[in-house]
Amino acid sequence: MRTKQFKSESKKLMDMMINSIYTHKEIFLRELISNASDALDKLYFKSLTDDNVGIAPDEFEIRIEIDKENRILRVIDNGCGMTEEELDKNLGTIAKSGSFNFKQENGKTDDVDIIGQFGVGFYSAFMVSDDVTVESRAYGSNEAFRWNSKGADGYTVSACDKQTVGTVVTLKIKPNTDDENYDEFLDQYRISALVKKYSDYIRHPIKMEFTTKEPVETKEGEKPEYRDVTELRTLNSMIPIWKKPKNEITSEEYNNFYKEKFYDYNDPIRVIHYKTEGSATYNALLYIPKQPAFDYYTKEFEKGLQLYSKGVLIMDKCADLLPDYFSFVKGLVDSEDLSLNISRETLQHDGQLKLIAKTIEKKIKGELEKMLKDDREAYEEFFKSFGIQLKFGVYNDYGMHKDTLKDLLIFRSSDQKKLITLKEYVDAMKESQENIYYASGETYEKIEMLPQTDAVKDKGYDILLLTENVDEFALMMLGEYDGKKFVNICDDKLQLDSEEEKKTLESENENSKEMLNFMKESIGEDIASVRFTNKLKKHPVCLTSEGGISLEMEKTLNSMPGAADNKVKAKLVLEINAQHDIAQKLKTLYEQDKDTLSKYAKLLYGEACIISGAGVSDPIEHSNLVCELMTKQ
Ligand code: ADP
Repeated sequence: MRTKQFKSESKKLMDMMINSIYTHKEIFLRELISNASDALDKLYFKSLTDDNVGIAPDEFEIRIEIDKENRILRVIDNGCGMTEEELDKNLGTIAKSGSFNFKQENGKTDDVDIIGQFGVGFYSAFMVSDDVTVESRAYGSNEAFRWNSKGADGYTVSACDKQTVGTVVTLKIKPNTDDENYDEFLDQYRISALVKKYSDYIRHPIKMEFTTKEPVETKEGEKPEYRDVTELRTLNSMIPIWKKPKNEITSEEYNNFYKEKFYDYNDPIRVIHYKTEGSATYNALLYIPKQPAFDYYTKEFEKGLQLYSKGVLIMDKCADLLPDYFSFVKGLVDSEDLSLNISRETLQHDGQLKLIAKTIEKKIKGELEKMLKDDREAYEEFFKSFGIQLKFGVYNDYGMHKDTLKDLLIFRSSDQKKLITLKEYVDAMKESQENIYYASGETYEKIEMLPQTDAVKDKGYDILLLTENVDEFALMMLGEYDGKKFVNICDDKLQLDSEEEKKTLESENENSKEMLNFMKESIGEDIASVRFTNKLKKHPVCLTSEGGISLEMEKTLNSMPGAADNKVKAKLVLEINAQHDIAQKLKTLYEQDKDTLSKYAKLLYGEACIISGAGVSDPIEHSNLVCELMTKQ
């Protein structure tokens, strides 16, 4: 028999398990029971359509056996079992589980972390055992195989004798050390307590022979005597947590269930648990996570809720139960009305399911609204993790869901220096103010430095500061809120002037038309026009855009995949402060020295670019021009 090596990632994890300093070694039992339970589910599911399975529904069970003398603990199931290949594949590598990829991406080296963060499954057995054997016979096969490993060196697989379908996992429990007591895992009371603690809701019975002392009747005056009585006990209540009444569940239980089931190391930020009867009868247990799962913002992420039919899992990720914008929600639905062997295709058209999905959406929205209202701090934390998803929700599907989501958005207010809702913005608006103003940029600080902000703030109007790519697109899709239009302060049409001021400016632009045109020609293709403006207070110039595509949107659109061949270009306008000394200087140059004016135009454009955060396209030319000016007599 040849000893096979573990795949390299598995080997590392094995080393970690064996040398684990993790204090919760006890979770190994939960992991083995959960594997056994999955195997039972699989075979049970098969038995619904396949008469050959030959096991009655109530015969599916998990057994735990303790042999104290030989330091043996066994977890036995009559589930689907594993073939020789499956033993090799499933227990020879963990690379598929994703947990290890995560660890590497984040460059973490702390082994305590990974165990706490993810169920590491079968491998946790090596925290308490240095000799693990798995004997298994797969359903439909008349052969059985034994997998054995004594640690990181590798494992063997060989044929063995096993009469019934299912799996036996045998752990040789480690000897006690100075700091570690392993005996506890051979103690029936301790094992029984661990099952209650971690696996109570497992829907198959977990049985163990329990030995207690019973007094033997003795004559008066004689020493009392006891005899051992052994009985088979079912250790778990088998009632899934979601079927228990709410007032019987502590928040710790809710949280533990969440963390085990959905592989999160944080408690959830909110739990939604409800039951409906009537047109659709079902239980739902939903969780809003605190932080996105490691793969949440990747293509690999699959949204969905677990779907149970009368306590039996029929689908692990039922995508139709969650809209994309709430895809971060984890949880399950257990329906009384769905048929067990319903297929994915028929499920999609199932009226019940649609009804359930609708209620779920409402419940999640309601919970978020409540959090926004009653616990702003928690909501902000939530929004930091998933706000971007809500904003995409506004933008996607041609804005179909914008009304559902608009009141869940929060943005940074320049005025109030905190995150506010659109309603809060509108409520604080001045009477004279007609629009909702916003500006986008890399950071709040950089946006606040934009020259365009001065005039808006001077009027006493608040500005929403947008720092995420999707922000502006979401607001464009919204178009307006409560009848108030969204206006980018960097848009060329930003208009804060009175009619009279507007007129004066128009004639100023008209009178200098030729000069402004000359400047535009000097700068070249980069800009659409040059004009005077009133919207700047102390700054000489700024860049705005016309036609709806802003500089920030240009950046975002061009950074998208496939954008290289088809670049979007914002139509830029160089605006010059009509009140600034530079305005007069330009006019004089136009009369006396067109050559210098042409250079000034380029310089001013360069300045405006720098201020806007876009940077100059030709820094050498820009710096040469500055130098030329500095050395000019
Ligand atoms: P996970 O359960 O997260 O997939 P594990 O390392 O615990 O990871 O188990 C790996 C795989 O081995 C399981 O997905 C399952 O296919 C198989 N397996 C483990 N235990 C059993 C069992 N008792 N019966 C049948 N298959 C099992």
